[in-house]
Amino acid sequence: MTITDDLVETFLKCPTKCFLRSRGEAGTGNAYAAWVRTKNDVFRIEGTKRLVAEVTPDKCAIGTQPTGSLKPAAWHLGIDLAVQSQELQCFCHAVEQIPSAGRGRTAQFVPIRFQFRNKLNRDDKVLLAFDARVLSEVLSRAVGLGKIVHGENYVTLKVKTSALASDVRKVTDKIGTLLASPSPPDLVLNRHCAECEFQNRCRQKGIEKDDLSLLSGMAEKERTDFNAKGIFTVTQLSYTFRPRRRPQGFRDKRERYHHSLKALAIREKKIHIVGSPEVKIEGTPVYMDVEGLPDRDFYYLIGIRIKAGDSVVQHSFWADSPSDEGSIWWEFLSKLVEVENPVLIHYGSFETVFLKRMRQRYGAPPNGSLAAKALESPINLLSVIFGQIYFPTYSNGLKDIAGWLGFKWSDQDVSGVQSISWRDTWEQTKASLAKEKLITYNLEDCAPLELVTRAVAQAGRQDIRPSSEAPQSLEVVVADNLNSKVSLWPRFRSSIDGFETINKAARWDYQRDTIYIRSDAKLKRAKRKGTNRVKRTIRVSKKTGPNCSPF
Ligand code: SF4
Repeated sequence: MTITDDLVETFLKCPTKCFLRSRGEAGTGNAYAAWVRTKNDVFRIEGTKRLVAEVTPDKCAIGTQPTGSLKPAAWHLGIDLAVQSQELQCFCHAVEQIPSAGRGRTAQFVPIRFQFRNKLNRDDKVLLAFDARVLSEVLSRAVGLGKIVHGENYVTLKVKTSALASDVRKVTDKIGTLLASPSPPDLVLNRHCAECEFQNRCRQKGIEKDDLSLLSGMAEKERTDFNAKGIFTVTQLSYTFRPRRRPQGFRDKRERYHHSLKALAIREKKIHIVGSPEVKIEGTPVYMDVEGLPDRDFYYLIGIRIKAGDSVVQHSFWADSPSDEGSIWWEFLSKLVEVENPVLIHYGSFETVFLKRMRQRYGAPPNGSLAAKALESPINLLSVIFGQIYFPTYSNGLKDIAGWLGFKWSDQDVSGVQSISWRDTWEQTKASLAKEKLITYNLEDCAPLELVTRAVAQAGRQDIRPSSEAPQSLEVVVADNLNSKVSLWPRFRSSIDGFETINKAARWDYQRDTIYIRSDAKLKRAKRKGTNRVKRTIRVSKKTGPNCSPF
């Protein structure tokens, strides 16, 4: 099967996606992915126009297939070139031909790709290097340089594609193996899922399999290590949690994160806590959520929810363009100053970075003021939860936890990446509907933040009471009080006559084929002294035989 640039691009994101695309499977669609495609197409058309404007029409070739017999200097710029070698195929956005620099020197071909994002990543460069390889095979000459035109200002980045040749070879070899296989690769849910058209299909399959990759915080290496121990499902993992006694000197240190405890919380459908989680709010809580465009380093919307007694006040600060960013920051500060002893509460590191950057860019209230104090010591609720409170949810995302606590969003399918496309729609059309949707989405993230804060405070006091929003009984289990003596291999009991005897007998074969080795120094000393009594008290150091587990 021919390996195309589209397959390379999807493989770099996820092998399963690459396999599904190669088999022509259609996903259920993804609004963000569709928006990215459109943005790239529009950017490519505009970028192409700019390149074409720089060459004379007779030196521009559109849609031709370059071959090895290509006459040097027949064209300077090729646009939309479908290039195919024996096994590889790519669609070059543009190819620049640099005429030979003198006798005996060949003309150089430089593939060009367009990418609408300002910030590029390694995948963009590998994709360009793939174009260079296909071109090189077709033209039978080295193609060692490529260009990526990207971002709002159509900046050109030169990439040494020869340096990425081995990466491209590895990727194409892997794709070749993948496409030759009759079945899809093992499913691994990953960060790209939120932007993928197969999201519903894969999530469903992951849940059916109870797959470990459902636990979003688990790194690939951790998952591979668990698999090597024979643990493939969340339920299997849940049985491996054992509370550990911590040395005296480490009692005050925070316990590391246990995936097994998260799995146990999911299996038991109960909140599990470790240590003494505490959220100290000494003042008026101000719940904050910020929307931004990371690709442009631009924050355009700040939402706050101020809770005073039984009343709630909400404010939104909207920036039409980057030049308004400073104004919304100061509007936000002026509201903060009005609050009596404000305590900022947010969820995750996005707002932590926002507060730091805004203070650097636009300044902060005078030192010593209550507002300055609130900015210096905001509460990141996620860091209180992490490693201390295990909600029975696959991730620690606000949406997952608040959803489990019973919070309902007006639009259940909206996500952070989708808000980026809404903002873009607003910038293109200035449609008030897009702006309203964003403001609602932003404020709706402040309300669940309050709900989760309440749950965290109650979990710390082990005093969770079902709220009107929570459908489940919010029972809290203290992980340290779990019985650590429960064996992974409890005694086998059966109501069927004879099964227990058969099970016992199974061990005879195992014992007959196993050699037990004791090589302890104590044993050596006992042997020297000529006594055998100590032998039974010494643990077996090694078991060997055909049925022994390697672990
Ligand atoms: S949804 Fe996730 S796992 Fe499935 S194909 Fe897409 S990226 Fe891969």
